Amino acid sequence: MKRQKSRKLLLTLSFFLFPLTLFYFSPYLILQGGFEGIISGSFLTFAALFLFSLLFGRVFCSWICPAGGLQECLFPAVDKRIMNRKINLIKYFIWIPWLIGILAAFLTAGGVHSVDFFYMTEHGISAAGMSGLITYFLILALITVLALLLGKRGMCHSICWMAPFMILGTKLKELLPIPSLKLTADSSACISCKQCTGKCPMSLEVQETVSKNNMNNSECILCGECADTCPKKLIKLSFNYSRK
Ligand code: SF4
Ligand code: SF4
Repeated sequence: MKRQKSRKLLLTLSFFLFPLTLFYFSPYLILQGGFEGIISGSFLTFAALFLFSLLFGRVFCSWICPAGGLQECLFPAVDKRIMNRKINLIKYFIWIPWLIGILAAFLTAGGVHSVDFFYMTEHGISAAGMSGLITYFLILALITVLALLLGKRGMCHSICWMAPFMILGTKLKELLPIPSLKLTADSSACISCKQCTGKCPMSLEVQETVSKNNMNNSECILCGECADTCPKKLIKLSFNYSRK
């Protein structure tokens, strides 16, 4: 369980640093920068997340994401599992028009004129001024309300604008002939205790995926909770070529 302790510690730390890093995950500043022909910090973050996911899938969500940190801190108050899979589709109805908007913004500006990683921050700090602080607290409120209304990691499932970049990367990594971080399982040893399902922070039906011998799931954030919980130690999180 050392892995889970380290993971939760890093997530919590990232959440506490959120006032500093908020703008580097902003879906708005990438658009605003686009209209000025500026590649902003959030543009570079999202590009890096996509590239990172080609090897590590959605590990960012389970180890580093500040919003993930807040949502896992809320777990003692919110232990409702998300059973309605349609909630996962909402984010694509946000992501696709937003992506088109970013493209249109850069076209309107006549292309890329400059790169400014610290765009709209004060000396690199996001929530330095009053408007940054208000944005910060509004985002915290939104994430909390979604968790209370929908269940565990409600934001990740429903509105996260970063998840589709990593889901795309995860799908691509399954096609590439390179080893990448994946879950694998030996279903023959499973005793159907469903402890893996109960522990999954993304409310996935892990035992079902084990029994089907196919652990691929675009909502899996590769946290390893299922692997660390399984009494038979039959789920593995490792670098491999497996396509299942
Ligand atoms: S399936 Fe396992 S690794 Fe994936 S999110 Fe659920 S607990 Fe984490
Ligand atoms: S925790 Fe392990 S043994 Fe229990 S249902 Fe899940 S995979 Fe099977």
